[in-house]
Amino acid sequence: MKSSFKSSYFSDFLQPSQIIFNLKAKDGIRAIEELLDVLVKQKLIKNKKVVLTRIIDRERLESTALGHNVALPHARVDTNGEIAVAVGKSKEGINFNAVDDKKVHIIILIIWNPSLPGLFNHLFAGLAKFLRKPGFRQRLFGAKNKMELFGALSEVALSLPQEDTIISRGSLLMKLQEIEIKKKKAKKEQMKKLKGQADLIREELDEALVDRFDRLMERYGFAVAEVDLGVCQGCNINVATGLSSAIEGSNDIYVCENCGKFMVASKNKKK
Ligand SMILES: [Zn+2]
Repeated sequence: MKSSFKSSYFSDFLQPSQIIFNLKAKDGIRAIEELLDVLVKQKLIKNKKVVLTRIIDRERLESTALGHNVALPHARVDTNGEIAVAVGKSKEGINFNAVDDKKVHIIILIIWNPSLPGLFNHLFAGLAKFLRKPGFRQRLFGAKNKMELFGALSEVALSLPQEDTIISRGSLLMKLQEIEIKKKKAKKEQMKKLKGQADLIREELDEALVDRFDRLMERYGFAVAEVDLGVCQGCNINVATGLSSAIEGSNDIYVCENCGKFMVASKNKKK
């Protein structure tokens, strides 16, 4: 294991003072600002403006709403510590351009330090895994006060992104592929923007995943294939029925047993 951090639970980074139980904000940006103010107050970040710009850039690339009424806006910035986290709850819900079009009721804001590249990944994987458990969601959304919310979040264990199923990262990896393909034909003036977007995605994905992606891109010109009607579009071979239905409608990444490319749900099917 290459894991270099001592902490293994979300509660190692989260204090009750970093939770806003009733967000005043009605829109996403305001809510992020409200949470950033908490981090400034706690002296966990210095330059609110810089951090906000980074978060908005990332949000424009792809919404960080994970579905299940939760959003995870984030940015990689030099912080004083290793990671700065703030959590906000909104009763009415906030529009966050979520994949499932649902309003967001819980916002988990994460600012992490470039010196710890794997940390965000572990936190993201752990949260995504927990959010799939109906019992956990029930406790999260049913929390009657700040301490109940803190208690639920404290149980989230950091987790290593697995090699065979990578949760909730499908559309992001697909976007990276689109950008890398565009880069091949891009003019000089477009290059900077495309590179910036690709870097934003690369720095928040697991290192092993990105390595594998690059190797596949180099070898085949593409690394991510859609699964359409149960067929991997990377090799035109049927995937197992159970696997095919798991992929369908999800935003997860699987690896094709036949051609080794990453498989994601077909976009046509999702809409
Ligand atoms: Zn295949």
